[in-house]
Amino acid sequence: MRPAWAAIDLAALQHNLKVIRKLAGGKRILAILKANAYGHGLQRIAQALSDIDAIGVARVDEALQLRNAGITRPIVLLEGFFDASQIPILTASNIQPVIHNLRQMKELSQVENLGDPLKIWLKVDTGMHRLGLEPDQMLSAYQQLVDLPQVHDHPVIISHFACADEPEHPQNKKQIQVYADVLAQLPPSATSFANSAALLAQIVPQYDWVRPGLALYGVSPFAGQVGGDHDLKPVMNLRASIISIRKIKAGESVGYGGQWTATEDTHIGIVAIGYGDGYPRHAPTGTPVLINGVIYPLIGRVAMDMVTVNLGQKLSVKLGDTAELWGAGLAVEKVAEAVGTIPYELLCNVARRVQLDYC
Ligand code: PLP
Repeated sequence: MRPAWAAIDLAALQHNLKVIRKLAGGKRILAILKANAYGHGLQRIAQALSDIDAIGVARVDEALQLRNAGITRPIVLLEGFFDASQIPILTASNIQPVIHNLRQMKELSQVENLGDPLKIWLKVDTGMHRLGLEPDQMLSAYQQLVDLPQVHDHPVIISHFACADEPEHPQNKKQIQVYADVLAQLPPSATSFANSAALLAQIVPQYDWVRPGLALYGVSPFAGQVGGDHDLKPVMNLRASIISIRKIKAGESVGYGGQWTATEDTHIGIVAIGYGDGYPRHAPTGTPVLINGVIYPLIGRVAMDMVTVNLGQKLSVKLGDTAELWGAGLAVEKVAEAVGTIPYELLCNVARRVQLDYC
């Protein structure tokens, strides 16, 4: 019997990469590995993607973790540097920041004795309105940047979709048009726009770099779909043992707050995973849990180390059996739907105490 663990299926990862390569049609792939590779383990996923063109992370510490693990491939820092003191760290470790505001440009232009110049990416806000320069700031920013001794070569021009998970959303066309208009003003540059949804739905030309995150892990970004609908295979299989089974009489309640009460005599199983492992505390009664190929409903409140499932009147589960919270047998997309969240959140929240077993 074990508490929660996640079996990470590296063959599935390679399969997904193949699917992505086909969709990308020969364009380069910037694999998004931020947030501990969406919970799958940053270092091991980076090592497994040994022939990927580049790796994208959000934070400097994530990039340094990869360099310290001996990963030599290009690393792109999607949120750039947070303050000027980080710039020399980036050059020393050959990390490529995304420049997304004028303050970062100023800080870059003022940094002295940098040693090697930085390769940079330049972000334009085409309508997401989160990060990125305004379209009308791009030409002058581009010219200033290429003239800086601190900058190596021409930046890659990057933008990000707000609504790619809804391929018919009118915002997509608007963003694509803004991006095309910006590119038309600039000297010929390398380009990058598509995330998983844009790639899977092919809503945009792939440009030079595609940036899949969720699809790499075998999961669909589209509501109502699962990775399998796109020939993707889930990489994470979150599991835990059944550590207690008991009989409950009609009228008895279960767990904190006595929130769930049996309406008939039944058996319940206690599964060794809880919100301390990243399983969502707000998962309602009825959230699916897979045991021995059968879906059972979660009941009562999720606790720190345990959840409870209703095993029914006729017991066909025994102590020590393994429950799958999500994975190849139970799509994380379905669990996310039951819980009222998105699969990204479930994957990223898997806690450090959950052992990742690579197979
Ligand atoms: N590109 C950027 C800039 C991102 O922030 C992200 C993730 O949020 C991605 C690409 C990958 O997105 P997805 O996981 O939907 O493919």
